Amino acid sequence: MAELPPQARAVVIGGGIVGCSTAYHLAKLGWADTIIIERHKLTSGSTHHAAGLVGQLRSSANITQLLAESVALYRSLESETGLASGWKMNGGLRLACNAARWTELKRQATSARSFGLEMQLLTAREAQQLWPLMEVADVVGAAFLPTDGQVNPSDITLSLAKGARLRGVRLFEDTSVLGFEFERGRVSAVLTSRGRIVCEVVVNCAGQWARQIGLLAGVNVPLVSVQHQYLITDTIPGVTPGLPTLRDPDRLTYFKEEVGGLVMGGYEPNPRPWAVDGFPDNFNFQLLQPDWEHFQPILDQAMARVPPLAGASAKELINGPESFTPDGNFILGAAPEVGGIYVGAGFNAFGIASGGGAGQVLAQWIVAGEAPCDLWPVDIRRFGPPHGDINWVRARTLELYGKHYAIAWPGEEHSSGRPLRRSPLYEYLRAAGAVFGEKLGWERPNWFAAAGEAAHDEYGFGRPNWFAAVAREHQAARERVALFDQSSFAKFQLRGLHAEQALSWLCANDVAKPVGSLVYTPMLNGNGGIACDLTVARLAKDCFYIVTGTGFATHDFEWISRHIPADLDARLTDVSSQYAVLALMGPAARRVLERVTHDDVSNAGFAFGQVRSLHVAGAPLLALRITYVGELGWELHVPVEYAVTLYDALMRAGSDLGIANAGYRAIECLRLEKGYRAWGADVGPDHTPLEAGLAWAVKLKTAIPFLGREALQRQQRSPLEKWLCAFTTDDPAVMLFGRETIYRDGQRVGWLGSGGYGHTLRSAVGLGYVRRPQGLSREYLLAGRYELEVATERIACRIHLGPLYDPKMERVRA
Ligand SMILES: Cc1cc2nc3c(=O)[nH]c(=O)nc-3n(C[C@H](O)[C@H](O)[C@H](O)COP(=O)(O)OP(=O)(O)OC[C@H]3O[C@@H](n4cnc5c(N)ncnc54)[C@H](O)[C@@H]3O)c2cc1C
Repeated sequence: MAELPPQARAVVIGGGIVGCSTAYHLAKLGWADTIIIERHKLTSGSTHHAAGLVGQLRSSANITQLLAESVALYRSLESETGLASGWKMNGGLRLACNAARWTELKRQATSARSFGLEMQLLTAREAQQLWPLMEVADVVGAAFLPTDGQVNPSDITLSLAKGARLRGVRLFEDTSVLGFEFERGRVSAVLTSRGRIVCEVVVNCAGQWARQIGLLAGVNVPLVSVQHQYLITDTIPGVTPGLPTLRDPDRLTYFKEEVGGLVMGGYEPNPRPWAVDGFPDNFNFQLLQPDWEHFQPILDQAMARVPPLAGASAKELINGPESFTPDGNFILGAAPEVGGIYVGAGFNAFGIASGGGAGQVLAQWIVAGEAPCDLWPVDIRRFGPPHGDINWVRARTLELYGKHYAIAWPGEEHSSGRPLRRSPLYEYLRAAGAVFGEKLGWERPNWFAAAGEAAHDEYGFGRPNWFAAVAREHQAARERVALFDQSSFAKFQLRGLHAEQALSWLCANDVAKPVGSLVYTPMLNGNGGIACDLTVARLAKDCFYIVTGTGFATHDFEWISRHIPADLDARLTDVSSQYAVLALMGPAARRVLERVTHDDVSNAGFAFGQVRSLHVAGAPLLALRITYVGELGWELHVPVEYAVTLYDALMRAGSDLGIANAGYRAIECLRLEKGYRAWGADVGPDHTPLEAGLAWAVKLKTAIPFLGREALQRQQRSPLEKWLCAFTTDDPAVMLFGRETIYRDGQRVGWLGSGGYGHTLRSAVGLGYVRRPQGLSREYLLAGRYELEVATERIACRIHLGPLYDPKMERVRA
């Protein structure tokens, strides 16, 4: 056995498809001094027992692109390594057996086209021509993705490993990672069963063991193992090699051809976890006991779809454990807890499909130190404190597994592990009819049911049951005053001698303002992309208060801490749990506030864009004059123990002014009308402030250096290639949810990042980038005739380059 080297630039843990792909791509990018450490043999984890279906469409453009990269790699790898991968581009068929599923498929077909993926819609009869063995009496329609396919999971992994070795990567099997050493917050060495390796970077690709490995390094990788089964049959007459893969979500099943027989698996609604009390030793190349009883309902469904299955003899029922995550997406990126540790794990039974592309972007991330594009849906920093509790993670993961093939409803909430994080107002708001949603464990009022209205969500693709309630809340904010509990906001404090200097470097907007100033600012990456967008309030010469979205707590904290120049005295603290937040918004907000404070809240005394310490109803609080709904208002950040008193006082003071509780779904409609951007949907690392219409929030006119400045200056020299615009439809019945395709003069030019309904405008509203590689201008944008494709239908719409509501900011500054 070859001796372990004393050092390597990168140590990849795990010789499954993801580890091999990452090592292959690292070497391709010049990191030949990479080694793979595999505790047993290549493919001996989940990889060896995968079914091998490769589907590509996901709900995010970049993740779909990542899966398309897998396909491109699997098509070409054999010519490079000489090892066949078993890749077969036989296409993928997906059935719809009810009206809602058909709508979902049509919406997916629209998204696929937006993302550049061909997806054809077929009649039941046409689908049957592609898959003659199936019954289609209940099929409403089907979708066909011609570039989907299947692969042999072990073969493709061995081919990737060979490709990596040809480029210099060394592989050590029968070697276990046992621990790590650290220096100044970074990993410095890996400890293995055969010795110690000093390294710059560790990549944790240990599949379902990745959580356990993460714990050795103090890194949380929230995943659990779940049993997943599929049946392999003997040959079945009529099963031909060219048969597409088939997914029948309404029957929870999938199929693929294998040596003249079928592989047929599914997602049981009552999944069975595995290794709850820890992993058995030496679980290599092993399977679990087949669980026929658990599988039978799935099998019955499959036999009804493919009757010849009933007469086929079963070769084997595979029961393999696989890692699943609490949101059904995999986990990629730099661990926020420790420098130099990267993770690629938790592949939710699509690791074969994702392996090629995931390894590619992870390698790019490692080499560049930043993600190559917006990978937020899979970024490890999307998790937070609740994900440290394995029981919570398991409960949510099992719920998501059970919903794997369920229709993904717009606005859908999940129910497991709730309630967990509650604002002090939770019970009061519940009593007032609040219907809660959940984000990062926080219960947040989505909307308020009136007496007699059912206080729960009823999902659909049409107008939802909360439409009227949200309209009421919207109207209250626009015409009177509304109170929003936004206690879940992430809040940080940056303190120190050099706090201003640090933030001036990090923020694209000018935050070096007098004490009492409040600034909305993007923070940019080196390409000028929007890494974070948040609010910075100056509380003292050496102290800033930073407010960002609930879901971005881990991400933004990590981004800010990592980018504070090392020689500066500026310490970041997460103070989220110290303050509840009540946002008082609407034209009557001042009149309410005046009734409960002696402090000056007049426009002259407390202008828009300022922060003040006030006493309101006895509560000492920070009032931020800012808005995300486009009205006069204040965010009141109050120590948690005063929150209930403050809430009571505001509601009493506003009762004759028509004050109303309002929730997050109203915020969404209000901010869309005002054109306020949402990070992750409308802005993110792939978009610069210039493209996003946020040039006003960037200090390019000053001489102050800031991260991303050069990239923006470069971009200023030529016309923009994409531009964020707003769209409204004339037909008020159209429902926009995001990802609808934008057409200009009959040509596809982009898709919506977010969509919703503007209750003041009485129109659907969407925000999306119009793209043109040759460059575009206002004149070009305004000269076009626009349509939105919604569930494959083209709808006439109008383009708008500015806010649709209060463009002069008169209401906000009132
Ligand atoms: C029944 C079943 C069917 C599936 N079907 C499909 C499908 O059709 N399509 C699809 O895309 N995906 C499918 N999958 C999912 C797919 O198998 C996985 O997502 C994928 O194999 C994960 O690869 P990985 O490299 O992350 O993990 P693994 O293959 O599990 O690799 C992790 C490796 O880490 C090693 N390791 C662990 N601990 C240590 C240590 N301490 N030191 C060193 N090495 C260590 C392990 O030995 C293992 O080899 C299926 C999964 C199952 C269970």
